[in-house]
Amino acid sequence: MSLPPCPQCQSEYTYEDGGQYVCPECAHEWNETETPAADEGLNVKDANGAVLQDGDTVVLIKDLKVKGSSMVIKQGTKVKGIRLQEGDHNIGCKIDGSAMNLKSEFVKKA
Ligand SMILES: [Zn+2]
Repeated sequence: MSLPPCPQCQSEYTYEDGGQYVCPECAHEWNETETPAADEGLNVKDANGAVLQDGDTVVLIKDLKVKGSSMVIKQGTKVKGIRLQEGDHNIGCKIDGSAMNLKSEFVKKA
């Protein structure tokens, strides 16, 4: 098992000292529970700041117009099995069998 590279200067000469990682090149010290941002994956939060995960069920907190149609998804609609994704509309899901993209700020975890 190799130690993670320094998050500050990417040095590979990291060593462990008292539960902390230390970089001999830039003297940066960090905790092993901190992971570099690249490893965290998508960080999608609902309207209350709760972290969402693939497969979660969410509830809409406002009426949402569906782009390119006259359909409106009503506030309170339950959406099962969401899928997190990159972008402005960071939740992919199916509502009434149709694929939709939602913004996490308009939902809360059920
Ligand atoms: Zn370093």
